[in-house]
Amino acid sequence: MGINISYSVTDDGRRTTVYGNIMRYPKIRELIEAIKAVVKGPYTSKFPFEPHIPEKRYRGQPVYHDDDCVGCGACYEVCTSGCIKKTDDLDSDPPRRKLEIHYDSCIFCGQCQAACITKEGVKQTNKLDDLSVFDRNDAVNSVEKELVLCEGCGCMVGAKEHLVWVSKKLGPLAYSSPTSYLSTLKDLKLSYLNVEKSDDLTRPDRIKILCPKCRREITLNT
Ligand code: SF4
Ligand code: SF4
Repeated sequence: MGINISYSVTDDGRRTTVYGNIMRYPKIRELIEAIKAVVKGPYTSKFPFEPHIPEKRYRGQPVYHDDDCVGCGACYEVCTSGCIKKTDDLDSDPPRRKLEIHYDSCIFCGQCQAACITKEGVKQTNKLDDLSVFDRNDAVNSVEKELVLCEGCGCMVGAKEHLVWVSKKLGPLAYSSPTSYLSTLKDLKLSYLNVEKSDDLTRPDRIKILCPKCRREITLNT
């Protein structure tokens, strides 16, 4: 017995659909699935009585990888649900940036992973059962990075590892920007970090790590 569908046109020209003779018996496919389930056992897992093992390709919670994350904050900028929190603490010693993924509002869209500049800093896992928590604050994954401050005005320039990463990407071109090459030299301990704020920027201050505003001022005025 199959599905019988017919159409009729009303006086005002609209088309209506009439269903008739709809099949009420189980389909062959459903019967085959039921027989398979009897022989092989149920398809569903026994979670929460047993740990749930997701599919290998399941796109679950994203996790930060400290060794590959440089603290640029691109994942925070693109997060579609706003579940990544960025906190820049300029008063701590050294100044720190903290990035936190709050899984209670993450929708596992994968945009953070797609936008990660190193491609490995944050990656989706196939984890799911770790999200069964009593306190939402337990469902958080975070990473912390050191920040670099402007040696002119003391404002935040960027994450230290991010500046070094950009400098390495630029290669020899990094020597056109003191902020870039000094970041690398300081990372290699070949130059000391001077975060003393200067009231008046003079010509020798050009060879310092500076924010764009101080760099512009020193270039125009000295
Ligand atoms: S998977 Fe999507 S919602 Fe979750 S942290 Fe990444 S960008 Fe935000
Ligand atoms: S390196 Fe990747 S994971 Fe780290 S802050 Fe940047 S975008 Fe986010």
